[in-house]
Amino acid sequence: MNVIAYIFVFLFGAAIGSFLNVVMFRLPKGISIVRPHSFCPHCKKPIPWYENIPIVGYMYLGGKCSGCRKPISIHYPIIESLMGCLLLYLFISYGLAAQFFFYMYLFCSLIIIAGIDFSYQIIPDIISIPGIAIGLVFQIITNNFILGLIGALFGGGLILLLRVIGGWVYKKEVMGMGDVYLTAMIGAFVGFPLIIASIFIAALAGAILGVIYVISTHQSRESPIPFGPFLGFGGIAVLVFNTQIIQFFRLLGINL
Ligand SMILES: [Zn+2]
Repeated sequence: MNVIAYIFVFLFGAAIGSFLNVVMFRLPKGISIVRPHSFCPHCKKPIPWYENIPIVGYMYLGGKCSGCRKPISIHYPIIESLMGCLLLYLFISYGLAAQFFFYMYLFCSLIIIAGIDFSYQIIPDIISIPGIAIGLVFQIITNNFILGLIGALFGGGLILLLRVIGGWVYKKEVMGMGDVYLTAMIGAFVGFPLIIASIFIAALAGAILGVIYVISTHQSRESPIPFGPFLGFGGIAVLVFNTQIIQFFRLLGINL
């Protein structure tokens, strides 16, 4: 019985992942999310439903469009599988309690924002600013409003501070206002003090990948590396690995 429920939840997550791929591709271009139906970005061929089945469709097509044979980005099946796994994790951890639905909302928002920031260096405020309010509603429902509010203020405030100091030191924008709202949103959902761990993980992941980039390409990047994907990664990681992260910080002598 449980196995059937797990399979169903995974497939539901994969279908949501498929929708997130559409939003990520269309939102920055101003194309409607509902119409037209899915099409190949190269040859504009409409994609029939059986080629559009999450994960399976990509495998069936061998990763190539059936019209023009151009490769389909690997990010489609990756995001579908990721959402399937994340939703399964939420279901196993919380059943169908409020956490399931609100964390699902957070994960969807973070994945869309990460994808758009990665491709366009824009964080859509239309997702992050209402997200702050939705995160605080979640904290009211679960009786955690004060820690959620502190999380939002601390997260947004810290990035705002970095933005102001970075502007003075480097005489250019090191953090956008988009990063400020995004971190406030994550803080509202994960609360205080997990938001500290979330930002720490984002900064660490950003630093490691930044160093790998510079070493592998032997050059420093002209445009700044978008920070949104790392903030999103930190936000998801603290919720999925919260017990391990609390233990890790305890080893460092910090009680979260
Ligand atoms: Zn095509």
